[in-house]
Amino acid sequence: MKDKEIIIAIDGHSSTGKSTVAKQLAKALQYIYVDTGAMYRAVTLYAMRKGYVDEFNFNQEKLENDLSLVSIKFELNKENGLAEAVLNGENVEREIRTLAVSKHVSKIAAVSLVRKKLVEQQHQMGKDKGIVMDGRDIGTVVFPNAELKLFMTATAKDRAERRFLELKDRGEDVTYEDVLKNVVNRDHIDSTRKDSPLRKAGDAIKIDNSNLSLEQQFEQILQLAKTTIRNS
Ligand code: C5P
Repeated sequence: MKDKEIIIAIDGHSSTGKSTVAKQLAKALQYIYVDTGAMYRAVTLYAMRKGYVDEFNFNQEKLENDLSLVSIKFELNKENGLAEAVLNGENVEREIRTLAVSKHVSKIAAVSLVRKKLVEQQHQMGKDKGIVMDGRDIGTVVFPNAELKLFMTATAKDRAERRFLELKDRGEDVTYEDVLKNVVNRDHIDSTRKDSPLRKAGDAIKIDNSNLSLEQQFEQILQLAKTTIRNS
């Protein structure tokens, strides 16, 4: 008999390696993985391309009026087996990971109508369970009844180092200072916004991975997931 399927919610600060763990976990359990940050990033890219947001201005009303025209989906990359973000039919997986998008995404994610649209879609994706979803509000707002909730954190310095190396690897021309500033700034906006602020759910398990290797962290989390599935 197939094990009972559950919802695993992984929240936490920027660049804590949530998505790496979530992807590994989904693969090991044969669950669906949903990166909700990619959805907010795709809306941000839409707003940037339309000229609704830049360093100095943000035209929230224009974005809100356009929301019905914004379609976000995921498509499977057959080569690496991972789901990639698609904005209005265009694969934008690479573009949404740039620092330029990271600089605006928290402003866009603070807009209630944007959240409402994406949370509805996330509810649909998780309705049959068997899902690992990562983000900022998954355990608090999207799936408050998730069977397993994790809250990941690490020092801003460790997180910025990780993200800096990742961006460099992809050939982006960025400085460590810029990345650190972005990580700190996003944490601040994400934790202080009115709608669905980033916070640890009361029943989430906190994982500080400053001093854990990726392998150690994954083993710890996989065991937690297996125990939760057994007991559900
Ligand atoms: O996870 P990632 O760092 O890619 O998320 C990008 C941004 O999207 C976050 O800094 C946050 O502003 C927003 N976000 C959110 N709620 C989620 C996922 C992401 O507000 N569930």
